[in-house]
Amino acid sequence: MAEDRYDVLIIGAGPAGLTAGLYAARAGLKTAVVEKGTPGGQIATTDLVDNYPGFPDGILGPDLSQLMERHAVRFGAELIYDEVTGLKPREDGTWEVQMYGGPKVARTVIVASGAYERKLGVPGEEEFRGRGVSYCAICDGAFFKGGKVAVVGGGDSALTEGLYLTRVVEEVTIIHRRDELRAAHDLQQRAKANPKIRWIFSHVVERMEGDEKLRRLILRNTKDGSTKELDVDGVFIYIGMIPNTGFLEGVVERDAAGYILSTPDLKTSAPGIWVAGDARAGSLAQVSTAVGEGATAALEAEAYLGKWDAGQKPQWPRLEKAAV
Ligand SMILES: Cc1cc2nc3c(=O)[nH]c(=O)nc-3n(C[C@H](O)[C@H](O)[C@H](O)COP(=O)(O)OP(=O)(O)OC[C@H]3O[C@@H](n4cnc5c(N)ncnc54)[C@H](O)[C@@H]3O)c2cc1C
Repeated sequence: MAEDRYDVLIIGAGPAGLTAGLYAARAGLKTAVVEKGTPGGQIATTDLVDNYPGFPDGILGPDLSQLMERHAVRFGAELIYDEVTGLKPREDGTWEVQMYGGPKVARTVIVASGAYERKLGVPGEEEFRGRGVSYCAICDGAFFKGGKVAVVGGGDSALTEGLYLTRVVEEVTIIHRRDELRAAHDLQQRAKANPKIRWIFSHVVERMEGDEKLRRLILRNTKDGSTKELDVDGVFIYIGMIPNTGFLEGVVERDAAGYILSTPDLKTSAPGIWVAGDARAGSLAQVSTAVGEGATAALEAEAYLGKWDAGQKPQWPRLEKAAV
């Protein structure tokens, strides 16, 4: 049986992967984008993307996701719904890409597997997940219509999603472990001007309590150690991300947090594999940067394949650890 062989196989259909797919397919390369969840990646689960150029009034995350998917598919990128579980080098310089539906062969690979939400890791979080604990305001906000919710975090995501929730719920309490926010200045201004938002600084969630659903958070003051209760109907957690790179252990070099190391032109330590977007060490973790990196990686892969087809052995640099 003929093997499934691609010029470019992209892991992840977020903004980075869909852009890489668009560029590679448009260059006439046989291209697949493998996605284990929803095309669009993280933006598929967010409300308003307000800082992506070309949309002066902002655009809803799910809408932008669909547009990016349509755009890649229009140029011939094949979307494969599966999960990549590993990569194995083959003697002819190609990669065996392992997934549940059976392996595919790729001459080049672009890792665009992004990142997922960090958990608080406190008692009650797992127990009440889906019964009051959520990591996605746009997915679950409507369940708390007219209620009181908390948002944990002090960065852009926490404030963006907190603002979104004010349209649905009665009161949003933002809990942050420090006494100042990390979020962008304009977001801070908008959140602080919103009468539905309350603030609890210098506190962390110590545990979550309830019965058949979440009822309250027990908060600990990071300065004096005292505790207090906050009655809530729901809590939304936005405290940072973890890269989706576990399946690449031993294949490409990663930093201590699991982000993939790369050269400035996005080559990883493994020949024929590039990285783009949030999975990359040093990424700015924005849609606009993910998109730019997806395009760069695809054009790099095109040039590499051009040399390969012309009979020249493509060069691959030694990755310096500092070159992230
Ligand atoms: C709540 C929230 C709000 C945000 N708001 C903004 C904003 O307003 N503006 C902005 O610029 N940025 C925003 N961001 C950040 C932005 O969404 C990310 O920077 C961007 O999505 C990164 O794109 P990516 O393609 O690198 O990764 P991701 O979007 O994480 O996509 C990676 C994809 O790879 C898939 N995948 C992972 N592992 C595998 C595997 N083994 N096999 C197959 N598929 C796999 C995942 O399912 C996912 O779909 C926000 C993020 C969040 C969470």
